[in-house]
Amino acid sequence: MEQILQQIDTHKEEITAFSAQTPEQVEEFRIKYLGTKGLVKAIMGEMRNVPNERKKEFGQVLNDFKLFVEEKYESLRQSNTREAKGTSAQIDWSLPGDPITAGTRHPLNIVRNQIVSIFKRLGFAVAEGPEIEDDWHNFGAMNLPEDHPARDMQDTFYISQNPSWLLRTHTSSVQARVMETQKPPIRVICPGRVYRNETISARAHCFFHQVEGLYVDENVSFADLKQTLYFFVQEMFGNDVKVRFRPSYFPFTEPSAEMDISCLICKGKGCNICKHTGWVEILGSGMVHPNVLDNFGIDSNKYTGFAFGMGVERITQLKYQVNDLRLYSQNDVRFLKQFTGVV
Ligand SMILES: [Zn+2]
Repeated sequence: MEQILQQIDTHKEEITAFSAQTPEQVEEFRIKYLGTKGLVKAIMGEMRNVPNERKKEFGQVLNDFKLFVEEKYESLRQSNTREAKGTSAQIDWSLPGDPITAGTRHPLNIVRNQIVSIFKRLGFAVAEGPEIEDDWHNFGAMNLPEDHPARDMQDTFYISQNPSWLLRTHTSSVQARVMETQKPPIRVICPGRVYRNETISARAHCFFHQVEGLYVDENVSFADLKQTLYFFVQEMFGNDVKVRFRPSYFPFTEPSAEMDISCLICKGKGCNICKHTGWVEILGSGMVHPNVLDNFGIDSNKYTGFAFGMGVERITQLKYQVNDLRLYSQNDVRFLKQFTGVV
């Protein structure tokens, strides 16, 4: 009898120390202590040998022991069910967390933000507009005549339900919306995505990004345009970069010019990027055509303005020497990871 009481104390110590990590271990515990051939049953069987006058006392001890084992089993079971694993009660907060990989800014966004910040310092505000445009804002208001090749079905994505809607082919449509609602002085840049129906290759894509700028006020001259763009190039590419303007044609500016910078790769000596000329084209620009100003009720005898537009992909290609336009939209982390830490 005393021996059994001692055994119960030893078992209690064992049971208190027992821990289970899996539902299988909990089941082992149940079989060992609470099963039909388990320890609790065996000790209960000892009741037969207990003298009558001590049966009550002994029965109490055995009941307590049984309850003790059942409570332990219940707590093991609750903490080892599949659902319980991972609830807050079971999380060891001192363990190191699962690593979360920090993303990186997309190279096009890095460059877009740099362009925006340079022009903001010159007092340009940022304007944005819809990517689905109507014919007027994309073409008509911008002085593109009906037979202009840019209107060709080959080059523009028209919306099939309503052919007078299209995916904007340039962010000039945003300039149109600004001139529609604001009076000079106007000084905005328009960053955004634009669409052209081009075959996708290393050098062309069906969508790309532009930043266009517009400055309209009294006495705005071509000298202002040049000074603004010189400042931009020096801030973007450094003081050593040379700049040249070439006469060009755009329907919405007159006169128009394309701007080249000296090749950053070969420093003007000639390489594949600059097609061995030492120069690379980075943007188009010009004085806003009087017809465009008049389209918005801005008096072209009183006001003048300049406009420019550049491709963000082009600037990014030059800055980071990206050779294939398709890399920008493939979501390949091997490419994107190379911009880690750039903000
Ligand atoms: Zn070169």
